[in-house]
Amino acid sequence: MILEKYSFGVGDRFSHQGKAQLQAFIKAKGQGVDITPVWNKSHREHTIIKTTHASVRKEADDAVSDLNWTGPYLVDADHIGLKNVDLFIDSSDFFTLDVADFIGQAVDEGDVKSFVEKYKKYVGELAIEGIDEPLVLSEEKITEIAKKYLLAVKEAGKIYRHVEAKKGADNFITEVSMDETDSPQTPIEMIFILAAIADEGIPAQTIAPKFTGRFNKGVDYVGDVEQFAKEFNDDLAVIAFAVKEFGLKKNLKLSVHSGSDKFSIYKPINHALKKFDAGLHIKTAGTTWLEELIGLAMAGGDGLEIAGCIYTGALSRFDELCGPYATVIDIDKDKLPTPDEVNSYSGEQFADALRHNQSCEKYNLNLRQLLHVGYKIAAEMGDDYYNALEKYEDIIAQNVTENIYERHIKPIFLT
Ligand SMILES: [Zn+2]
Repeated sequence: MILEKYSFGVGDRFSHQGKAQLQAFIKAKGQGVDITPVWNKSHREHTIIKTTHASVRKEADDAVSDLNWTGPYLVDADHIGLKNVDLFIDSSDFFTLDVADFIGQAVDEGDVKSFVEKYKKYVGELAIEGIDEPLVLSEEKITEIAKKYLLAVKEAGKIYRHVEAKKGADNFITEVSMDETDSPQTPIEMIFILAAIADEGIPAQTIAPKFTGRFNKGVDYVGDVEQFAKEFNDDLAVIAFAVKEFGLKKNLKLSVHSGSDKFSIYKPINHALKKFDAGLHIKTAGTTWLEELIGLAMAGGDGLEIAGCIYTGALSRFDELCGPYATVIDIDKDKLPTPDEVNSYSGEQFADALRHNQSCEKYNLNLRQLLHVGYKIAAEMGDDYYNALEKYEDIIAQNVTENIYERHIKPIFLT
């Protein structure tokens, strides 16, 4: 299976917005840009919401057949490891092998030695097309990188072969992810990570590094945009080099995780993709569920009531809900509205506070982040929540489609 040049991960916690999401891709196609939708839902989300892995596949299949989508589409086993991959085998055809936990773990000395032996031919200055200054490499540097990353790549190899044995090599797409770690990978590290991926025989079509800056869930990028732009460009240059040098898949591309709502880096991403004629996989952070809340609020009546209940519920269970996401949210508790304030909001006020429109004064990124992790409250409402999604399907769908198309697809791929 080949992953097309542009692909876009859509998360859908409650599996009701498949069609509304697909509409955004249909709109892009209407503008002449083909983007493959990839439905993703992590093991953590499945556990919290108590949904089955098969439900994501069904949602995608149903949306595709209802809207007569003839392009490719995929279902992502997002951030899996050997421990939970089996749950995703049947329903998925895209596997995000998450090996971040293995970075820096002790690796066999002999493996390090033979890796360094093989790659010490790059010691000295290495000029890479697209990077201004030549990279300076030493044997010590390569040793250090091998010690830090070799075990992680070997783990990716194990997971890959496990999936391959069950599904067959041509029946799925492989991504290697190292984004959920503290420090970004440098271009030099990327070269040897990619070399190791080639050595392991992993036919990766996308790789998710950790970039500089903070990629908090559902809000804009926080960090040095210029530094990000440089890193992104350098990574594209390194990938183009590594593909030729190590014989990796020709369509290997970068994957940006938690890529939704990172409005301030879309322009540099767009420029870099054009400059390198590169592809991109961008994963969103499951913010479709926030569009459901916006739609419910805008519907007014019991829709608005449900949105208010979810906020007050989330506020009262702040620590429990934020805990699993502590490293990817930054909420200033003092700036959260009180339950009384929120209960007095009109539908429009609720939507304005939540919708990610930075030019709107009423937008509150603290409220947005809290609601983002508050989906457990909606899940606990069970049928009350699902029935409201069905009752207010139209207004919710409008918001879901508009968010993906106008705020994401357009600035990244269509300008
Ligand atoms: Zn990730």
